[in-house]
Amino acid sequence: MLVSAKEMLTKAKAGKYAVGQFNINNLEWTKAILLTAQELNSPVILGVSEGAGKYMAGYKTVVGMVNGMLEELNITVPVALHLDHGSYEGAKKCIEAGFSSVMFDGSHYPIEENVEKTKELVNICNELGLSLEAEVGSIGGEEDGVVGAGECADPDECKMIADLGVTMLAAGIGNIHGKYPANWAGLSFETLDAVQAKTGDMPLVLHGGTGIPEDMIKKAISLGVAKINVNTECQLAFAAATREYIEAGKDLQGKGFDPRKLLAPGFEAIKATVKEKMELFGSVNKA
Ligand SMILES: [Zn+2]
Repeated sequence: MLVSAKEMLTKAKAGKYAVGQFNINNLEWTKAILLTAQELNSPVILGVSEGAGKYMAGYKTVVGMVNGMLEELNITVPVALHLDHGSYEGAKKCIEAGFSSVMFDGSHYPIEENVEKTKELVNICNELGLSLEAEVGSIGGEEDGVVGAGECADPDECKMIADLGVTMLAAGIGNIHGKYPANWAGLSFETLDAVQAKTGDMPLVLHGGTGIPEDMIKKAISLGVAKINVNTECQLAFAAATREYIEAGKDLQGKGFDPRKLLAPGFEAIKATVKEKMELFGSVNKA
């Protein structure tokens, strides 16, 4: 059964580790992530962007697929199904479809409007026992066509949003979605420290986990980051493994064109990436 992300993140923040949010795109992605979490006895958050939800034929299809897998694959570790960077309308749709967690990304609204809409969603989520992630200060790079500049959040605005009763808070600290440019300045630990000082026990979320050096990830966790989003890295691993299979001509040998064979190397590559991240984040055996 799907669970809210609240308990797993409260435990993570207290225990100084982070739970990975791995975004899903299809059946192979979902199965690879769930099986790896179960094998490593780790809690996990499945992330779904609005674009990926649409690609997978809608939120209800996603909920049906994930719930089916939890049962048929005997997944017993805590799993949250979470809308990533949701719009106000998207968040409501996911709640209706059966997601156990949503992110409302109101970072592009003026702070007053972000507060207003976040407050409404806090009430809905509290009533239903769902977790809610809010964002302050846009996160750089491109995600589903939304391009942000990679700013640092204002710690006072973070406190304002945290005080509304959200479960977790994504604050921009110089992080970027997608691949990091060669001239990237790195994470602003000064900002992260200031945000944590103002928000106390609130689990903080680090977006754009792909390509952040390991020592920076570990330092961010020590400063209160309890959820780290990984998306691009699984995509790159899947693509590289699939390319290798086809370039080696394996799809032309025997029944190598069978999708169950063709997609197997990419599936294994996602599993390996998720395992590496769970070990780095410290969530292994924390289920
Ligand atoms: Zn993000």
